[in-house]
Amino acid sequence: MSARLIDGKAASKRVLAEVRERVGACTAKGVTPTLAVVLVGDDPASQVYVRNKGRRAADVGIATRDHRLPAEGTTTASLLQLVAELSADREVDGILVQLPLPPHIDADAVLLAIDPAKDVDGFHPDNLGRLMLGQPRFVPCTPAGCMRLIEEAGVDPSGKGALVVGRSTIVGKPMAQLLLAANATVTVAHSRTVDLAQEVGRAEILVAAVGRPRMIRGEWIRPGATVIDVGINRLDDGSLVGDVDFEGALSSAGAITPVPGGVGPMTIAGLMRNVVASAERRARG
Ligand code: NDP
Repeated sequence: MSARLIDGKAASKRVLAEVRERVGACTAKGVTPTLAVVLVGDDPASQVYVRNKGRRAADVGIATRDHRLPAEGTTTASLLQLVAELSADREVDGILVQLPLPPHIDADAVLLAIDPAKDVDGFHPDNLGRLMLGQPRFVPCTPAGCMRLIEEAGVDPSGKGALVVGRSTIVGKPMAQLLLAANATVTVAHSRTVDLAQEVGRAEILVAAVGRPRMIRGEWIRPGATVIDVGINRLDDGSLVGDVDFEGALSSAGAITPVPGGVGPMTIAGLMRNVVASAERRARG
């Protein structure tokens, strides 16, 4: 048996079409959904991410305001000042500070300074706390995208055994929380997990967010499992692979996301959805 592919590109197009419609409704009320993007330094990967976000925003009618700052000369204090201005600006619906920030900048302080009502990445403690309480405002974009892909695969997490591999604040932990809220029985694995193969073998839903190429072997996967591969790893030959051995998993998984073309496109779509949700709140007054 060969696993069904969960097509993140197609799913993201559907999400973006919904966003475009909602943007149109905001614009008709005189509110142009606006995302402020802050990029410090010249990290090539960050530049690509920021460019892609800008393009996607333009596609759906979201305005962007770019703040590109040199690493040298930008201090924690100057960045805090910019974030405070953007937080106070009525016309800005979302603030995105592209991570990682250069090491001399206190990233935690900067993220904490973003108005939680404009924190479209969903990383502010206020938003993570709301998620924990079951009162989400902005859900972090990657885990939100993973949940949508599970839904697209026709899988209801309720009562199922789910394993999240990875416990980062931006992916693993919120992912576990979302699966819990959807009534899955959730296990979280990490670098100190003793027998990862055994944990993987039990999971009906597997979400891999580690950052190690193909570390989850196909033969570990429970037959019929739904596999969401968040990992993006570049190999020496330039190709991209996930955290799951995709070829090996095809014969055991019931459904699986490819890399690229799985979770990645959903992350940007989730960001756009968060921006329009914020603009809708502004439009309601
Ligand atoms: P982090 O490095 O912050 O977290 C990695 C996690 O993996 C940690 O919790 C770590 O455990 C765990 N881990 C490391 N080694 C092992 C191991 N041998 N067995 C089990 N767990 C292990 O990464 P992120 O969460 O930020 O990202 C994870 C991956 O997802 C990366 O490849 C990243 O590029 C990708 N990503 C993709 C996105 C997309 O849009 N598709 C968006 C965001 C990330 P411990 O806590 O114990 O150290």
